[in-house]
Amino acid sequence: MLTETQLKRYTRNILLPNVGAAGQEKLLQSRVLVVGSGGLGSPAAYYLAAAGVGHIGLVDSDKVDLSNLQRQILHRTEDIGRPKVASGAEKLRALNSDTEVIAVEKLITGENADDVVRSYDVIVDCTDNFSVRYLLNDACISQQKPMIFGGVLSFSGQLMTIMPGEGPCLRCLFREDPSPDASSCAEVGILGAVPGVIGALQSTEVIKYLLGLGNLLMGRLLTYDALTAAFFEVTLERDPSCPSCAQL
Ligand SMILES: [Zn+2]
Repeated sequence: MLTETQLKRYTRNILLPNVGAAGQEKLLQSRVLVVGSGGLGSPAAYYLAAAGVGHIGLVDSDKVDLSNLQRQILHRTEDIGRPKVASGAEKLRALNSDTEVIAVEKLITGENADDVVRSYDVIVDCTDNFSVRYLLNDACISQQKPMIFGGVLSFSGQLMTIMPGEGPCLRCLFREDPSPDASSCAEVGILGAVPGVIGALQSTEVIKYLLGLGNLLMGRLLTYDALTAAFFEVTLERDPSCPSCAQL
């Protein structure tokens, strides 16, 4: 049962069709893992905490750097040098004490990916590291958990919702981790509000999944181009020989 304070805090959620108090209670009982507390993870986690997701895991092994502050809005100037998960967890707790924030200061590896993912309902891929992204993809496929992929570079960003066994996964698109050839934001730059757009869309997909609302971005790779102010999407199919998800 929601308290008086919760009814007031979440009233704009509760008013929404097909959400109501029952939907809000569901959000408060949900467990969402946000991997990466940077440009994408900041807005994604912030909106999830604001919405009253009850348990948010924040994973990152980095410390806050001055050059992060141009876009990573969970962190402030005085946080420089602190672990990103400590800085991020503090902001989320200050926003909403209903949200339990679990700070996980580690790099996802082949050894720990399955354990890190295990206790969550949905995973938000907010990392800028392709090898971590592929490890998460495989862990989510093997445990049949949805993953909301997001990525940004320069003036554009992309996202897609991966539903294991129902829609394509990352390895259906690109068999192998493309990181040896991929450019990074550290090399080519990133307009700070672009991860704001994509991270907000990722959090929207999470809420929709948790509450069973609308149509998920499954099998649809959505791209945002800031320079033309346009969104476009490409429909993708599962690869029947995908090494990660073909057996599902
Ligand atoms: Zn696949």
